[in-house]
Amino acid sequence: MRRPLIAGNWKMHFTVPEGLEYALQLRRDLEPYSALVDVVIMPPAVMLWEIANALRGCAIEVGAQNAGWEDQGPFTGEISPKMLAGWCHYLLIGHSERRQLFNETDEELNRKLHAGLRHRLKVILAVGETLEEYDAGRTAEVITRQLNAALYGVELRQATDLSIAYEPVWAIGTGKAATPDYANETMGLIRGLLQSPFGALASQIRILYGGSVTPANARSLLEQPEIDGGLVGGASLKPGEFTRIVQATAEVLQSPRV
Ligand code: PEP
Repeated sequence: MRRPLIAGNWKMHFTVPEGLEYALQLRRDLEPYSALVDVVIMPPAVMLWEIANALRGCAIEVGAQNAGWEDQGPFTGEISPKMLAGWCHYLLIGHSERRQLFNETDEELNRKLHAGLRHRLKVILAVGETLEEYDAGRTAEVITRQLNAALYGVELRQATDLSIAYEPVWAIGTGKAATPDYANETMGLIRGLLQSPFGALASQIRILYGGSVTPANARSLLEQPEIDGGLVGGASLKPGEFTRIVQATAEVLQSPRV
C-alpha cells in the first residue's frame, strides 16, 4: 500500500524567523500523525537549511520548491540539487508557476528531474492542464506530453524516488478544487502512463492531488483510490488548516476507502 504524503508548498511566504517558528509549531502539532502520514514542508530556499536543522529528529521532512540542473557554476541566483543533497529530502519541479511565470520548458524540467534524482532527492513532478486546455478537452494530451517529456531517460531503479503531483492549473489558488471524481480519473490516467517507463513499479509511485485543498475537501479527495496525498499551497500557510488536512488524511487511512 502507498503511504500517504502531504506536501506543503509555502511558495514565497514568511520571513526566516516566521518560517522557523511555524516549522517548530508543526513539529509539535503533527507528532500524533507521524506514524500514518508522511509530511514534507517546502519553505523558501533562504530558510531551508535552518528549518531542516530545526526539524532534525522528527518525522517532518523538508523539500526545495525549485533547483537548477547544474551542480555548480556561473548561474547567478540559482541553487543546485548537489547543494541540497544529504540534508534536504524532496525537490519539487514543474509547478505551474515555474512553468508559466518563469517560462520553464518540458526539456528543462527533464534536466532538473535527472539532476534531482542523481543527487538522491525525492522528486515531486507537478503536471496539470490550464483552464483553456481543460475547456478544450485537452487534459489527457497535455498531461501525457508533460509526463513523457519530464520522465524521458529516467531509469527503473529511480522510480521509487519519484512522486507525481496532478495540479489542474485552474484549481490552484482559486478556491475551486477539482471534483474528487475528476481528479481520480485524471490520476488514473497518470498511473497508466507511468506503466510505460516503470512497469509494475508504477503502482508504487505516489500521485498527489493539488489545487485548493482545504480541511473541508481533503477527506473527499483522499478517499479516492488514486489519490495518495496532497500538494497544498494556501492552506499550508495556516498552521491550523495544514494540521487538519494531515489529520483528515490519517482518518481516511483508518476507515475503508470508496
Ligand atoms: C499549489 O500551489 O501547488 C497549490 C496547490 O496551491 P493552492 O493549494 O493554494 O491551490
